[in-house]
Amino acid sequence: MTVATVPNDLEAFWMPFTANRSFKKAPRMLVRAKDMHYWSAEGRQLIDGAAGLWCVNAGHSREPIVKAIQDQAVEMDFSPPFQVGNPKAFQLATKVAALAPGDLDHVFFANSGSEAVDTALKIAIAYHNVTGQGARQRLIGRVRGYHGVGFGGIAVGGMVPNRKMFGSALPAVDHLPATYNRAEQGFSRGEPEWGGHLADDLENIVGLHDASTIAAVIVEPMAGSTGVLPPPKGYLQKLRQICDKYGILLIFDEVITGFGRLSAAFAAERYGVVPDMITFAKGVTSGTVPMGGVIVRKGIYDAFMKGPEHVVELFHGYTYSAHPLACAAGLATLDLYEKEDLFGNAKRLEDKWADAVHSLKGLPNVVDIRTIGIVGAIDLAPKPDAPGKRGMEVMDETFHRQDVLIRIAGDSIVLSPPLMLNENNIGEIVDKVGKAIKAIA
Ligand code: PMP
Repeated sequence: MTVATVPNDLEAFWMPFTANRSFKKAPRMLVRAKDMHYWSAEGRQLIDGAAGLWCVNAGHSREPIVKAIQDQAVEMDFSPPFQVGNPKAFQLATKVAALAPGDLDHVFFANSGSEAVDTALKIAIAYHNVTGQGARQRLIGRVRGYHGVGFGGIAVGGMVPNRKMFGSALPAVDHLPATYNRAEQGFSRGEPEWGGHLADDLENIVGLHDASTIAAVIVEPMAGSTGVLPPPKGYLQKLRQICDKYGILLIFDEVITGFGRLSAAFAAERYGVVPDMITFAKGVTSGTVPMGGVIVRKGIYDAFMKGPEHVVELFHGYTYSAHPLACAAGLATLDLYEKEDLFGNAKRLEDKWADAVHSLKGLPNVVDIRTIGIVGAIDLAPKPDAPGKRGMEVMDETFHRQDVLIRIAGDSIVLSPPLMLNENNIGEIVDKVGKAIKAIA
């Protein structure tokens, strides 16, 4: 096997969501991966505490998935997605729908979480259009929500840095308040007791604009990228009730929470709440080939199927929607999840995971810890006048010296290892993160 090393010239690649100048001075470069591990360009073996970027749920370079992708590349590299089908797209849609709760039974494919979100927002508005409620165009997101980087996604998203460089994005957007409150919820395990009432804010927004102008509410069941904010008890159920009362569609963005991350196929299942649409990406192919999509309820799909049969029902889609390589990867991935009962493994280990991550309480600068499913966040107190700097220090320490890959959200350490993990892996990840926290203190 030839393995890449650090290239001589790092200038041309403008890295996404990265402090480019500082990265290029001391690159963190990964060149190989297998199961629970990465290898850096310097030859160090790192345990993956992040599932890559919340996506490698089955573990790295798993043989059945690799083989499915290889076979598909030989058999048929590409097929056009419009007016022509490839059998694996239909098979994968059936399998994804079968994992979703209730009557969420139709799947629209995209290539990323961002495309999935923009697709869902467009379907919501179009749905109201085709059902004679064209005035319903307003979209509601939440503060500290992350819904990707399309214009739709940043508009409903609630992250200031992701919006402020890019003008006004979409008009007619409102935000529910964030569900996090350290004073009330600090060091909580699973769903915090406090905060269910925050869903009532939707009533205020309805009061302000009238329900007849509101198309949809989109939330991550657990906000991931803004630092792991599990839903307060009763919050999602309440959102569902209020949406039902006013005919507003409810979208769960499950790009992170889908495919086992919260110890169930989808968070919707864990919480017993059936949204009108679920967006997914990442875990559907275990990160191997880009893919995203939207699962919609039967009533939404049916509303579009009313006109003459020869007419296109939804003017939306991507060249690479249901790409054959992604479909092959997706089928092999879902098979592996089932064969190895990886969602069940997450469930069995959830308490041990929580115990281990919460054992870091008391280390220097640790001001909060949250866990849910196989996810954890450890908040470090920001340095005075330099928010985010401590986060970068811990990133460097974990990568270059402790040999564990983590993710940083500002000054929070975010953990979400592959779901094939075992108890030893949990011990190792948490031990290494603890050493890093002490080392940078
Ligand atoms: N929605 C959520 C909830 C996400 O976490 C992400 C990515 N982390 C996205 C959307 C965007 O996905 P992508 O980066 O694949 O566009």
